[in-house]
Amino acid sequence: MGYVDEVLEQVKAKNSDQPEFLQAVTEVLETLRPVVDANEELYRKEAVLERITEPDRAIHFRVPWVDDNGQVQVNRGYRVQYNNAIGPYKGGCRFHPSVNLSIIKFLGFEQIFKNSLTSLPMGGGKGGADFDPKGKSDREIMAFCQSFMTELYKYIGADTDVPAGDIGVGAREIGYLFGQYKKIRGVYEGVLTGKGLTYGGSLVRKQATGYGLCYITQELLKKNGTSFEGKTVVVSGSGNVATYAIEKATQLGGKVVTCSDSTGWIYDPDGIDVALLKDIKEVRRARLTEYAKERPSAEYHEGRGVWSIKCDVALPCATQNELLIDDAKTLVENGCQYVCEGANMPTTLDATEYLTSNGIQFIPGKASNAGGVATSGLEMSQNSERLSWSEEEVDAKLQSIMANIFKNIDSAAAKYGMEGNYIAGANIAGFEKVVDAMIAQGVC
Ligand code: NDP
Repeated sequence: MGYVDEVLEQVKAKNSDQPEFLQAVTEVLETLRPVVDANEELYRKEAVLERITEPDRAIHFRVPWVDDNGQVQVNRGYRVQYNNAIGPYKGGCRFHPSVNLSIIKFLGFEQIFKNSLTSLPMGGGKGGADFDPKGKSDREIMAFCQSFMTELYKYIGADTDVPAGDIGVGAREIGYLFGQYKKIRGVYEGVLTGKGLTYGGSLVRKQATGYGLCYITQELLKKNGTSFEGKTVVVSGSGNVATYAIEKATQLGGKVVTCSDSTGWIYDPDGIDVALLKDIKEVRRARLTEYAKERPSAEYHEGRGVWSIKCDVALPCATQNELLIDDAKTLVENGCQYVCEGANMPTTLDATEYLTSNGIQFIPGKASNAGGVATSGLEMSQNSERLSWSEEEVDAKLQSIMANIFKNIDSAAAKYGMEGNYIAGANIAGFEKVVDAMIAQGVC
């Protein structure tokens, strides 16, 4: 049995209760076969695959807090510090009822390669809690964040592990988390990214994942001799990534006609009104039903459905496993040509296989949504030198990082004879750098 298959079997046996984690490891290792085959003796001796699939540590902890009725609530918090071969652990925190060890490990594992692709010195980690911020008062959110940080602070630091936001963790939550860290540790340091602009945040961080997704999609379109101009774009989600992907795709000349949340979706043939969407989601924290009420051209539908709309470009920006095999068939049937992932692992393995074998050009999330963590890396640099860069400077750096990622994944795929396979290209380019660093640092 080959080395990849042996390790896949071991990982499956040890983690049989972690489907999302196994999905991510399978997807990565399958595409690494050519690199592993070319270096099998060395990689086996160094146990490279066993080491990279096992996190340095996975911490889980109790998060007790008091709700507005005086009732004590208990959630479970996590931090998985996956790999710090090329820099301090770096990766967001997710607050969502679905959070469990499998989801945090899948996200932390993917983060290793994503961070490596940015070319910045950041290792991989991820965290979160099974806490649902929906419907909670500001005081309850603060109580939860303070309790979460009261345990988390022991494991993080500006040079060890730098968390950020993810689903359910935006500017408000980062503010409360940072305040508690500062109070407990008594130090003012860049321990979190995604901070507010008045206390060490970076311009463009909020927009970075969605903008970065459009910048790399633009590179792909350019390679195919075209652009966003005149293209119909479908987007899922209506959170941080989706909102700024819609904004940038529109600015670049595309017409974005959908968005969604966990209860329903919008079809707006006139193009999504970004200002209205931001007001509903960022200011009023309301549901998408409000969008349809206030925008005569829009239809609201319950449930899922964005992938049924005819488009040229599809940008899944909500959550994992939201684009299924039947959606993939509909996209192909409708003539969609490009799928670039804004969310982490939004496309299931069989849907990805169907899209790519039917001629759709596909960029995986670890490359196409890396603009968020890249700009977090830029925030860390600004914090270290105690300076703030202008919007133009950060945006220019983001554009150049995304263009560079596209170049690297394109050439890594070509180097191993898989021209146009950006999934393999992203995994290979991310993996090679981390593995070189791991081997250079000895068995640790
Ligand atoms: P937000 O919490 O801001 O938004 C998430 C969006 O997805 C919301 O519209 C939410 O709807 C929807 N959603 C969440 N869970 C589900 C579900 N189970 N079914 C259907 N819809 C769902 O998160 P972000 O925009 O920050 O993150 C979106 C994705 O992008 C995630 O996969 C995240 O890991 C990834 N990502 C985020 C980065 C960032 O910088 N923020 C960086 C890189 C990746 P509702 O409001 O109803 O819950």
